[in-house]
Amino acid sequence: MWPENFIPLFQATPAASVAGHEFAFADDALILNHDGSLPDTATLEALGPARADFLFGRAGESGCRARRWDAPALPEKLQALNLRACHGVLQEGQWFLAARAKQLLGWDLASRHCGACGTPTGTAPGEPAKLCPACGHRHYPQIAPAVMCLVRRGDRLLLARSPHFAPGMFSALAGFVEAGESVEGCLHREVFEETGIRITNLRWFASQPWPFPQSLMLAFHADYAGGHITPQADEIEAADWFGVDALPGLPSPVSIASRLISDGIERIRKGLP
Ligand SMILES: [Zn+2]
Repeated sequence: MWPENFIPLFQATPAASVAGHEFAFADDALILNHDGSLPDTATLEALGPARADFLFGRAGESGCRARRWDAPALPEKLQALNLRACHGVLQEGQWFLAARAKQLLGWDLASRHCGACGTPTGTAPGEPAKLCPACGHRHYPQIAPAVMCLVRRGDRLLLARSPHFAPGMFSALAGFVEAGESVEGCLHREVFEETGIRITNLRWFASQPWPFPQSLMLAFHADYAGGHITPQADEIEAADWFGVDALPGLPSPVSIASRLISDGIERIRKGLP
């Protein structure tokens, strides 16, 4: 989660004198010092004008600034890391701020012209939005909700793999919420589409923003209600029930899938529902 003292905002073109936390990106990769700390403002100024540059919140007295350069030549003292690889490098609160910065940078670049009439947009007063001066359309940052479901049948868990997973890796089932669909309806639909399994007894677990590019993952436990495993063609390469002592390769700890599956394993081992 964000640090407790963080307040989100969106303010374009901060004054050059703004002091604070620098979340700077080289394309989609976060720029860090080699010890994993955030770079200082003076070091980043040497990279020249950024393509995107705004404040995205305050942490106490400090502003949190997002900037993005396209393919910058970084000095030796800096590195650029994919945000997934930063999870164990940054403190957790900082990782979630970096996730917000990355998501808003993508939105800022994609909303510079009005999607309704094509006119260049400006910043809307008083809210994090772009405003079209010609037609009045407001463009808010988009968030795409997605669900994840770990299905349990007695002391076994339903895990599946899609063709793009690393070799040997299985995970919980997941998919995007369709327009006009409820989260609960999406859980039932995705699990049935991907595996032919019916579920019941949905139980909320946790959520995690996933800024690749703009998802919000909502994770649930559920129980088996019926059906035989029938993997969805083209989407699911394999799916099976796994006992907790005979598990396949699992997702990396950066993902909420890892936390959800760990929780499911622990519950089975402790005899909890
Ligand atoms: Zn417009």
